[in-house]
Amino acid sequence: MEQTFIMIKPDGMRRGLAGELMARFEKRGFILKAAKLMRVSPELSKKHYAEHADKPFYPGLEQFITSGPVLAMVWQGHDVVRIARAMMGATDAAQAPSGTIRGDYSTSKSENIIHGSDSVPSAQREMALFFAPGELV
Ligand code: UDP
Ligand code: MG
Repeated sequence: MEQTFIMIKPDGMRRGLAGELMARFEKRGFILKAAKLMRVSPELSKKHYAEHADKPFYPGLEQFITSGPVLAMVWQGHDVVRIARAMMGATDAAQAPSGTIRGDYSTSKSENIIHGSDSVPSAQREMALFFAPGELV
């Protein structure tokens, strides 16, 4: 069964949205396979966001993602990579429709509450960065 890597970012954690966001994935029918409250180090940020390392927004992104605890998770279910991205809404929360997570809780292109893998290969790469195989239940 397909799995994806989801992370509630420091803004979502600061605002106390973790329970509500987990409930959305549960209610859609997805199964929680792993969850870890942690800080992202600058080294882990550079690996996780390797495709963005040379972009002008990367320094601000690293500062943001390392600024407080995140909740790293693996969720499993039918077509979960694509459906989770649809539930999240566009990267720029100002463009995300109401009813999506970003569209309901943010107006920012940087502090946009949640991360979700953009493809099955990305999901496999990201899960391996954050979890050991034995940590998936
Ligand atoms: N980001 C940013 N400024 C930008 C584009 C992206 O700060 O102009 C941040 C934002 O937090 C985003 C993350 O970098 O979620 C990764 O960008 P990506 O384009 O991969 O968006 P996502 O896959 O998260 O929707
Ligand atoms: Mg992305």
